[in-house]
Amino acid sequence: MRVVLLGPPGAGKGTHASRLNVNLGVPHISTGDMVREEIKAQTELGEEIKKYSDRGVLVPDEIIIRLLAKRLRKPDCQKGFILDGFPRTMQQAEALDRISRIDLAINLNVPDEIIVQRLSNRLTCRKCGAIYNRLTMKPRRANICDKCDGELYQRVDDKPEVIQERLNVYRKNTEPLIEYYRRRSLLKDVHCDDLMTPPEVTFERIKAITDSVKKEKTRA
Ligand SMILES: [Zn+2]
Repeated sequence: MRVVLLGPPGAGKGTHASRLNVNLGVPHISTGDMVREEIKAQTELGEEIKKYSDRGVLVPDEIIIRLLAKRLRKPDCQKGFILDGFPRTMQQAEALDRISRIDLAINLNVPDEIIVQRLSNRLTCRKCGAIYNRLTMKPRRANICDKCDGELYQRVDDKPEVIQERLNVYRKNTEPLIEYYRRRSLLKDVHCDDLMTPPEVTFERIKAITDSVKKEKTRA
């Protein structure tokens, strides 16, 4: 199954994508991770990407698409994939259609005020990057990572005023994308209107959707 996961920053796309990865047995592909790995591997493309990120500018779509096309050709993607963080714009969605077919777009529908509350309480480990939350996923010891004893801190882009700006950008770019998938009957909404809803509950809703799509596919 080829799945696209849509949702604002802080909607829990990464968390749900890794669960889906276990559940569906297809790889979780995060374009952010892909870019970081390519830079680390110091490939020709990685060096080119590094030039953009060193200058603090967005890596052009064309490069991301090249990278993604290469990734989707790998044998582990034969049965499908879960895309997280891509596409974010109409242009990217159209480019994706040129390199692969999509079976399902899951839209994590989370209101702005919940995202702001959640992200402004988010803590990140300086050492291993693990994510915690002062309200919903507290570390065992205050400001210390459970996994590696690293120090937890608040990322600059998790400050409330920055979050609202990121959300505005997201809404502006992604609304047309949601409509694009809805028109083709590929979109399924998963609503999350309560800050304290545990991720397990949201995931059960996602799983119910993928289960029914799977059933339809085997029937077809
Ligand atoms: Zn850590």
